Amino acid sequence: MIRIRFHGRGGHGIKTASRIVGTAAFLAGYQVQDSPIYGAERRGAPVTAFTRMDTRPILERGIITEPDLIICGDETLLESPATGVLSGVESASAVFINTSNLEALKTKIKIDAPTVALDVTQRTLDHIGKASALSVGLGAAAVRLSGLISIEPLREAVRTELEELGLDVKMIEKNLRLAEEVFEGLEKVTMQQGKPSAKQAIHEMDYDHVLLGTPSILAPGNAEARQTGSWRVERPEIDYEHCTRCGLCFVGCPDGAIALDEQGYPVIDYDHCKGCLICLEQCPRHSIVSKKEVRSW
Ligand code: SF4
Ligand code: SF4
Repeated sequence: MIRIRFHGRGGHGIKTASRIVGTAAFLAGYQVQDSPIYGAERRGAPVTAFTRMDTRPILERGIITEPDLIICGDETLLESPATGVLSGVESASAVFINTSNLEALKTKIKIDAPTVALDVTQRTLDHIGKASALSVGLGAAAVRLSGLISIEPLREAVRTELEELGLDVKMIEKNLRLAEEVFEGLEKVTMQQGKPSAKQAIHEMDYDHVLLGTPSILAPGNAEARQTGSWRVERPEIDYEHCTRCGLCFVGCPDGAIALDEQGYPVIDYDHCKGCLICLEQCPRHSIVSKKEVRSW
C-alpha cells in the first residue's frame, strides 16, 4: 500500500488534490481511498487529506500516521510543529514541498527524509492566474512521485474532478497543461518496499469538549495574538491613486485586517491578513491587486 498525506491550507485545493490522486490511481487499476480532515472551517486554516492506494482491498481507515509520501502545499506550515506536517516523516520515502527556495528552508528546518521541491504556486499562477488554486499542481506532484501512475490517468482524473467542480473547458485545458508541466518536472521516487503496514490500522480519536475543540471561535480576544499573515500565498495591495475611500474592503474583510486611516483610506494589517482576497473582490474600483507572496526564510 502507498499512503500519501497532504498538508495545506483551507481554500487551496488540498482535498481536491487528494481526490485527483485517488481518481488517477483508480483509473490506473488500483483500489483507492481518499479523505480530508478539517479543523475549523476557515479559509487559510491548516487542512490535511489522505490518499491510500493498493492492489488489494484497503481495510485500513482513519488518519495516516506513517506516510510513504508527504505533500506539503504551503511551506509556512513547517514553521509550526503543531500542524504535524513532519509527523511520522521517518517512514516516508519522500517529502514534497511547494517552495521556490528549498536550500534556504533546509537551513531552518530539519527534514528526516529525502526532500523534493518545486514552486507549484508560481506554475499555478503562470497557467491559471490564481496562486492559491493548488489542487492540480499538488495532485500531479503526488502522482508523479508515487511512481505508480502514468500521465494519462492523471489527465483523465484532472478532467473528471474539475468538471465535477463546474470549471469550464478553457480552465480545464489550462489545468491540464499545468498537470503535465508538474508531472514532467519531477522524477519519480522509489517507494520503500516491504515496509510493514501501519502499526495501528484503526485509530481511536480523542474527542475534546467543544470549548476546547473550537477555542478560536468561542473565546473572543485571541484573534490578535494569532498572526495569520503567514497563511498568505497571495498578498493584496491597495492602489491608493484609484481608491475612492468607499470602505467596502474594510467592511468585507472577514478577519478585520483592514483599518481606515484618518483620511478614510484603507490600510491592510499584513500581520493578520491571511490572503483570502475577499477585499479584492469587494472593491468596485478594482483598486486592490494581488501579488504572489514572497517568503524570506
Ligand atoms: S485584507 Fe483582504 S486578503 Fe487580507 S484577510 Fe482581509 S479580505 Fe482577506
Ligand atoms: S473597496 Fe476599493 S475603492 Fe473602496 S476603500 Fe477599498 S480599496 Fe478603496
